[in-house]
Amino acid sequence: MNILILGGGGREHALAWAAMQNPKCDRLIVAPGNAGMASVAECADLPIEDGAAIAQFAVENAIDLVIVGPEAPLVAGVSDELRAAGVLCFGPSAAAAQLEASKTFTKQVCDAAKVPTAGWARFTDAASARAYIASTGAPIVVKADGLAAGKGVVVAMTEAEAFAAIDDMFGGAFGGAGAEVVIEEFMDGEEASFFVLCDGEIALPIGTAQDHKRIGEGDTGPNTGGMGAYSPAPIMDDAMQTLVMDQVIRPTLAEMARRGTPYQGVLYAGLMIKDGAARLVEYNARFGDPECQALMLRLGAQAFDLIHAAADGRLAGQRVDWADDHAMTVVLAAKGYPGAYGKGDTIGGLSDLPEDSFHMMFHAGTKAQGGTIVSNGGRVLNATGRGATLAEARDRAYALADAVDWPNATLRRDIGWRAL
Ligand code: ATP
Repeated sequence: MNILILGGGGREHALAWAAMQNPKCDRLIVAPGNAGMASVAECADLPIEDGAAIAQFAVENAIDLVIVGPEAPLVAGVSDELRAAGVLCFGPSAAAAQLEASKTFTKQVCDAAKVPTAGWARFTDAASARAYIASTGAPIVVKADGLAAGKGVVVAMTEAEAFAAIDDMFGGAFGGAGAEVVIEEFMDGEEASFFVLCDGEIALPIGTAQDHKRIGEGDTGPNTGGMGAYSPAPIMDDAMQTLVMDQVIRPTLAEMARRGTPYQGVLYAGLMIKDGAARLVEYNARFGDPECQALMLRLGAQAFDLIHAAADGRLAGQRVDWADDHAMTVVLAAKGYPGAYGKGDTIGGLSDLPEDSFHMMFHAGTKAQGGTIVSNGGRVLNATGRGATLAEARDRAYALADAVDWPNATLRRDIGWRAL
């Protein structure tokens, strides 16, 4: 098969790695890709949010399956254009990707499907939002409706913080994404991520994870795109997964189908777990980054078969061949991230690292320059280890991270602390 993967981060490197493990994959193109993927695939500089251009490229290059990594092309309708052109695509339609792109939309789906989630209200002006906060009090959560790269959410512990968030959002801090604001009841508990493949009808769980969003050890400091993750999440045991499938995932998928916008691709549910109950925090229409890296190392080549089956409406009868294993990803970021950071640091030692089903250094923001690899983004490398226990996976991930010669690297030493 000829495969095209859209995206250029660690998530897409992991998807590319899983595809290359599978003998069905004859030719792999990634757009735009990165220096790590360049050694296993062809990199193409394509406008990945332009559905017509991607569809034309896919047809001209006899692509059998397009796997969409990030949310932006989904929201822009790239999978719709591909399907219209007769190209198989893994990733929801623009209409179904609203589960990630609009918090109001997701809340309305949850209400219609009776999915447990935080109580909520929606506002289009600051005065009524402030009056609502004054009547309910803090803690309370204020969210810009649209996509804001994870920054449009304020968990306000005081009313003053909530008011400030309202003023920021209606003041245009998030552009159009903040023209509408959702205010939510604060939920207490432990967060976990649950990943489900969907073919429009059938849903197949493919793993759980927990991530670390903050830059600092002990989960302190500003939010980032994610500094590390591990899979499985101990709190998502079999009973909890069954409960979430019954109360959250299947009702959501049934409601999406009822609306005439069936969901196809990976559905990533962010959950809040407390006292044996689960409530939905958010949906994403794509894999998490760096959770995907840990999931892919656990699933290996079968990940590609399952993704292919989801895109093709063939999930019925598919099953995951689970190993009793654990995986962890540790993110190496540029100095200064998530604030201002430099690019162009030389990174040595990468070609000497072990690369097998227990160790993978997935690349994110890297670039080849002359004969060397240099940093080219905020999150740069994803050291990923797999083992029989989480401690073994952690030791392998950190051994990889420590074998890299990059004095400016910023990383957390405590990934997985809660589970370990
Ligand atoms: P991202 O995609 O980066 O995870 P997002 O912008 O889509 O973020 P949410 O996932 O809705 O936003 O919220 C971000 C974080 O804020 C959650 O992971 C959770 O820690 C916290 N949060 C969101 N809603 C609530 C809530 N109702 N109660 C408590 N915490 C919440």
